[in-house]
Amino acid sequence: MWQVPPDPVNEAERLAVLEACRMMDSPGDERFDRLAWLAQHVYEADVAFLSFVDAHRQWMKSLSAPLVGTAIDRKLSVCQHIISTGAPLMSPDLQSDPRFEGHPVVPKIPLRFYAGVPLIAAPDLAIGSLCVMRREPAPPTAPFDFAPLEALAAIAVDAVALAQRNEELTAESRIDALTGLANRRGFDDALLQAAGICNRSGEPLAALLIDVDRFKTINDQLGHLAGDMVLRRVGEALAGVALRQGDTLARYGGEEFVMLLPGSDLAGAMEVAARTRDRLVAAGIPRPENGLVTVSIGVAAQPGDAIDGLGLIARADAALYAAKRAGRDRVVGDGAEASVN
Ligand code: GH3
Ligand code: MG
Ligand code: MG
Repeated sequence: MWQVPPDPVNEAERLAVLEACRMMDSPGDERFDRLAWLAQHVYEADVAFLSFVDAHRQWMKSLSAPLVGTAIDRKLSVCQHIISTGAPLMSPDLQSDPRFEGHPVVPKIPLRFYAGVPLIAAPDLAIGSLCVMRREPAPPTAPFDFAPLEALAAIAVDAVALAQRNEELTAESRIDALTGLANRRGFDDALLQAAGICNRSGEPLAALLIDVDRFKTINDQLGHLAGDMVLRRVGEALAGVALRQGDTLARYGGEEFVMLLPGSDLAGAMEVAARTRDRLVAAGIPRPENGLVTVSIGVAAQPGDAIDGLGLIARADAALYAAKRAGRDRVVGDGAEASVN
């Protein structure tokens, strides 16, 4: 008599690994489609599918033929038995199999033969399954070889791990190693994205370019390593400025940082710039010639109907240059009337 199979003992770890690999509801991927196709052909099946199973659903990443749905309630899934035990499962005829007697769905589907193996990530965490099904039942005593299906499942698990590592490396390539902030590449992505969002929403976009004053002297007098430490502390201080969700703080290059504020006009951005200077003073980062590390900030903003990301940065850069020329340790807004000392 069929019963809903229990969750495996390592369910929480299993779900954590599944979550980390971000496979549920991910876009189609030919690598997985080829594996499902191969499984169908190797086993002369009518359908093969590669699925991931979260707390509630079995979701088909790849389905070789449209003979089963793309997602089903986990409780009703035959593959849940594989997730539950972590072991392969074969039924020559689901409809006469006593293990599935009374199952609410199995008698209604036109598929009777079933064989599946778990996708095993980490030592014994079953995050999904690779299965084949046929319309015709198999003779009860017919031998069945799981080995090819297990080999294909192992390739699928490798592909999952590779996709995950790729995502991690892509994320790492957008982080500055010294400060842990977004780097120039990460900022360029954020700028493109923010410009697109503000263009669509009609909201303004503002940018602050923040440059450490006379940083070269710090390097020259204290050495490059001490200079690095100052940059790290400046990064920490800037990260302490309460930014809104959707704002970006990045190391633009060298001793220059940038803040991107979607939805903010020039007046709002000038306030953030003033807070940024206060925060830096509060951090109290010493300079070699007595006194504290200061910054100059150039601020620019564009209205939602005239967003041009690169142009925005150029305006902020010009304002920063004006701040340097005017004596450093100050904020200058794009347009002289907005200038603040
Ligand atoms: P200003 O007030 O006009 O900005 O003067 P400055 O000395 O800060 O400006 P300048 O652009 O002449 O010097 C920036 C220096 O930052 C030069 C470069 O060697 C140093 N620098 C760039 N990146 C790093 C880094 O990662 N670590 C260290 N320690 N120094 C860096
Ligand atoms: Mg500088
Ligand atoms: Mg500079």
